[in-house]
Amino acid sequence: MARNPVQFQKGMSRAAFQERYSREDQCHEELVRLRWPDGFACPACLGRKYSFYAARRAFQCSLCRRQTSVKAGTLFHKSKLPLGTWFLAIYLVTQSKNDISALELSRQLGLTYDTAWIVKQKLMAAMGERNKAYKLKGSVQIDDAYLGGERKGTSGRGAEGKTPFLAAVETRADMFTSEAKSRSMSSSLSACPLVMRRASLMRWRGTALPSSSPSGL
Ligand SMILES: [Zn+2]
Repeated sequence: MARNPVQFQKGMSRAAFQERYSREDQCHEELVRLRWPDGFACPACLGRKYSFYAARRAFQCSLCRRQTSVKAGTLFHKSKLPLGTWFLAIYLVTQSKNDISALELSRQLGLTYDTAWIVKQKLMAAMGERNKAYKLKGSVQIDDAYLGGERKGTSGRGAEGKTPFLAAVETRADMFTSEAKSRSMSSSLSACPLVMRRASLMRWRGTALPSSSPSGL
């Protein structure tokens, strides 16, 4: 039987993740690379020259003397948690196929439930922000579904207590080619949960879909 390429997508294994991001300096280097891909740029004056104070992991701009850290202005700003904990949280939240719970996150990260809950909320909010800026294009598949546990009464569409939501997925012909195999499938997905009132649906259509989308939506 042919294997489903979605289920058998290649992601980063836990072992590979831990090899790359087990130490704080590895996580710091990765964040520097992501934030300043062309090299350090002072957030105050855009100066490129700097001194680095390793003990505090602080960058001091050689032009305006302002000190900053790679975490300033990011999700990790002022967090007392090590970057390694954040990175592992990101790995667990994004690799989980079935939405990892805050309780499970707290167990895996060794955090209290309350802290794990806050970490998860911050990550979900950041992922939502990223999705807002992402417009689907090309071939887009849309389906509706309903969230909610099993209850007595009518089932399926229109059942009481169920929250309707819409999921939209951009599919590309090259998605399963060798070039794309190393990328996580999740980077190609954009889920859009919303209550399906016509106004909100049309608003979402305007922001997430190509303008040539069928007008029936
Ligand atoms: Zn500066």
